[in-house]
Parts: sequence; C-alpha cells; structure tokens
Amino acid sequence: MSNNEDKFKKIIAHAKEYGFVFQSSEIYDGLAAAYDYGQYGVELKNNIKEYWWKSMVQYHENIVGLDAAIFMHPTTWKASGHVDAFNDPMIDNKDSKKRYRADVLVEDHIEKIQLKIQKDVEKARKRFGDDFDEVQFLTTNQRIIDRQNEIEDIKKRLYTAMEENRLDDIRELIEDLGIVCPVSGSRNWTDVRQFNLMFSTEMGSLSEGANKIYLRPETAQGIFVNYLNIQKTGRMKIPFGIAQIGKAFRNEIVARQFIFRMREFEQMEMQFFVRPGQEIKWFEYWKEQRMNWHLNMGIPETEYRFHEHDKLAHYANAAFDIEFNFPMGFKELEGIHSRTDFDLGAHQKFSGKKIQYFDPEINESYVPYVVETSIGLDRTFLAVLTFAFNEEKLEDGSERVVMRIPPFLAPIKAAILPLVKKDGLPEKAMEIFDTLKDDYMCFYEEKDSIGKRYRRQDAIGTPYCITVDHQTLEDNTVTIRERDSMQQDRIGIEQIHEIIKNRLKHKS
Ligand code: ATP
Repeated sequence: MSNNEDKFKKIIAHAKEYGFVFQSSEIYDGLAAAYDYGQYGVELKNNIKEYWWKSMVQYHENIVGLDAAIFMHPTTWKASGHVDAFNDPMIDNKDSKKRYRADVLVEDHIEKIQLKIQKDVEKARKRFGDDFDEVQFLTTNQRIIDRQNEIEDIKKRLYTAMEENRLDDIRELIEDLGIVCPVSGSRNWTDVRQFNLMFSTEMGSLSEGANKIYLRPETAQGIFVNYLNIQKTGRMKIPFGIAQIGKAFRNEIVARQFIFRMREFEQMEMQFFVRPGQEIKWFEYWKEQRMNWHLNMGIPETEYRFHEHDKLAHYANAAFDIEFNFPMGFKELEGIHSRTDFDLGAHQKFSGKKIQYFDPEINESYVPYVVETSIGLDRTFLAVLTFAFNEEKLEDGSERVVMRIPPFLAPIKAAILPLVKKDGLPEKAMEIFDTLKDDYMCFYEEKDSIGKRYRRQDAIGTPYCITVDHQTLEDNTVTIRERDSMQQDRIGIEQIHEIIKNRLKHKS
C-alpha cells in the first residue's frame, strides 16, 4: 500500500471513529456512495458553508442568495441539455464484471504516460545537476517529444469521439491502447454505452399519468429559472450574482473514494450575470477570488493548482478547475466556468418567456452572459480533513493524532473540562460553559483522565481545552491548553473569550 493510500484509509477510519462521517444506513451494511455527517461532521460542514456564504453573499453588495426546490419542472432539464447530454460513456469488463467510465480509463492511461515523462525529467535533472534546463529538455528530447505527441493524439481521438458521440471509436481507442481491467487484468471489454446520470422519480400519487421528474444534478438551474424573479424583485443591476447551497444528485457510474464522489452531495454555486463581451474579464476576476478563498483558510498554496479544461462543455467558452492535492492526487475541487448565454437563452426558448436585461449604460437589451463558480461542499470537507490529519510523535515518545482544522472551521472551539467530578468543579465548569455558549460551540466532559480528554479533543480539532481545578474556585483562573503547540497557560476566566476570538480570526 502506498503512503497516500495508507493516509486515505486512516482519514476515513478517523472520520468514522470520531463522529465526522458515517456510511449511510450502516446497520443495514450501508448504501454505496451515500454518507451521513455525524456530530462533528455537521458542525464542520456548517462552518464551511457559513464561510462560503459570507464571502460570496455578505461581502458582495451585488450578490444575493437563493434556496430553490430540488424538484423542478421537467422541461428545465430538457432546456439545460441534461436529458440529452448529461451522460457518461461506460464499459464493463466481462471477466471481472466491473464497470468503468470509458473516458476515465483513457485518461488514466494518459496519466501513466505523463508519469513516465516526469520520471525522465527527474533522471535528467540528476544527471545534469545545476546545468539542467527543464524547458529545453522538454522541448528537445526526442523521447519526451514522442510521448507528448502520443498524449496529444490520444486526447484528440478521445475528445472527438466524445463530442461526436461515437461510442465505437472510444471502444477502439481502449483496444488500441491495450488498456486492461485493473481487477482482472484482461482486455475482454463490452461495447461502450451511454449512461444518463440523472435520477428520476414520479410526481403525483398515481403512477399512471404521473410525470417523470428528476432529482436535480446541479443547483445552477434553480438559479437560472429564478433569474427574472430575483432581478426584478431585488432591482438588481448587471453585473450581479445569485448564490445557492444545496443538494445535488448524480447516478455516478463509479462512485468510490469516500465523500469525493457520491451519488447525493452538496454544491455551493454562484452564477454571476454580466454584459456579453465582458465575461472573460469577470472569469479572470472570479478565478482569482475563488483561489484566495481557499488560501485564506490557511491551507498552503502548494496543495492547490489550476487546471484548464482540455474539452469545454457544450455551454462554455472558458473553464478552469481548482484542483486540490487529495490523498489520491490532485483532483477537481471547484469549477469556474464561463457559460455564455447558453442557459438563460435555452430557458427563454423553452419557456417562451423573455429573459432579457435592459442595460441603461449602453441602451441595449440582451440575454446576460454567466460566469459560474461551482464548488463541492463535501470535497471541500475532504480537503480540510486531508490537510488537518496529522500523526505526531511527541517528545516523551508517545503519539497523538491531531486534526489541525483551521480554528474558525473547527467543530468545537473550546472544551470545558473539570479536573475531577466533585468538590464543586463540575458546577464551576458549567458556569464557564454558560458564559461561552452564546458565541462558541463548546463541549463539556468530566469523564476519564485529563490527558485522555485532551487527546480526544486533539482528534476532533478543538483549538482550546479549558481545565477547571481547585485553584479555579479560589482565584477564578483556569488552565488553557492550545491544540497545536500543546502549550498550557494559567489565565483568568475573563480572558477566555478574547483568546478564543483572536484564534478564530482569518483572512477574508
Ligand atoms: P467530476 O469531473 O469530478 O465528475 P464535474 O466536472 O462533473 O466533476 P461539476 O459538474 O463541475 O463537476 O460540479 C461542480 C462541483 O461539484 C465539482 O467541482 C465537485 O466539487 C462537485 N461534485 C461533482 N460531482 C460530485 C460527486 N459525485 N460527489 C461529490 N462532489 C461532486
């Protein structure tokens, strides 16, 4: 097992053991690709939502919120293109009976070639030492050039086949590349078939005559169909944005990797409406803003990177992902897309309602263009866990697991711990709890040795433990212990509030 796989397993086990994330319906052996957030998970998730909402809605005078229904009129999904085009190509291996996304098999193959290029670069770097010029090497070394050409050829074949919906060509590509099933090792593949990712159900009490409706696969369409409502009632002037946090559902073909890819998940999306022709300017603006949002959490820059889309979706004229260094490597965390007037234009056509904005500055009416920022809440949660999870060897030889969750996101801000369960210490501790509970999520515990209680708080990422002892009753002082340094200080009770407040500050 690689180090990363090992770390991923540990994070998943830790998330369960400490009440962050449970498998859905675990007592019935679980439901694939659905997860429940436990007592600490729900707090962390709420804190991430609040951080996003504040930074998008509260801090922008021209962005407002929305909470649209999950069920929408079925024509919505016809207009958006999801009924016809929200498909993934799938393929089965006849020996292992495992199902794969055909395009992902090809992309994994490309990644293998890329790894070979990287290895060659590292070798050359060692050989040439200080004189090594990476750019020159990449552009002149014949083996590298061949490999890069090979990648370009594969991408071209894949994306053309996908765009033109030529499933046989994808199958042929998989065969030509000699791709084998990772489980059976065989090349015994079925044909490639299209699979629509939307879940459907029926509305109405009679199945006869009932209408087929979908569980929304993205929150964005709820925003588009409310564009007119909000623009008019909010008297919004372009440029302006509408933000929404909510559940989305996709019947993913392969849903693995814990909360990274689920069939029910949560998105935080913002659609920013702009004048046609100004979309690229705003696209660049949101790219920078969104990256700053991630960095302001305090997670280092090295863990993030931008990735430009090789293949643009049918509605986009520019698209970048923000990728995070998850335990399984750099993967998409957020998408920033310039969606042109595709969505509003389509809803205008399908609904027959005029969706236009009169722009007094240029004295013209138009269908606004849209720049979207779309981030997975669950993936952000996983990014925070990945960064936070630390196993430490301490000076005395013992070990601890500490979750270095950015303090403002931590589920519990302070644990109030009476040293013993008698002599009036619990009552005093509860008094302190009561003075803090209005502002901070606190935790009270009187069981077990103080050392054990500290360790449990480290494991859920609580920035401060406050211990009440006999001296507290005499002089109103407590011991405050900080999570990361484990430093302990004796302070007056009246100082606690301010100390916590300072620790929760973050850039915004
Ligand atoms: P991927 O390529 O990983 O399937 P996507 O490009 O289809 O993702 P978008 O449609 O751009 O994703 O959705 C926006 C965001 O929603 C993604 O960046 C991701 O964080 C999140 N997301 C998408 N699908 C899932 C899923 N199945 N489980 C959890 N989060 C998801």
